Amino acid sequence: MKHYCPLCGYIYDPEKGDTSSEIEPNIKFEDIPDNWVYSICGADKSVFKTLN
Ligand SMILES: [Zn+2]
Repeated sequence: MKHYCPLCGYIYDPEKGDTSSEIEPNIKFEDIPDNWVYSICGADKSVFKTLN
């Protein structure tokens, strides 16, 4: 499942990971460390919404 950031529109795709913060491909959003923030806008995991 993909998740998106309502602040900047970034979509976290688990097939790609997040190359801007060393999250490897094939890591589920739920498995990202809880102290992770998206490096571009600073949003933490609690801000993200599921993308249906
Ligand atoms: Zn964002």
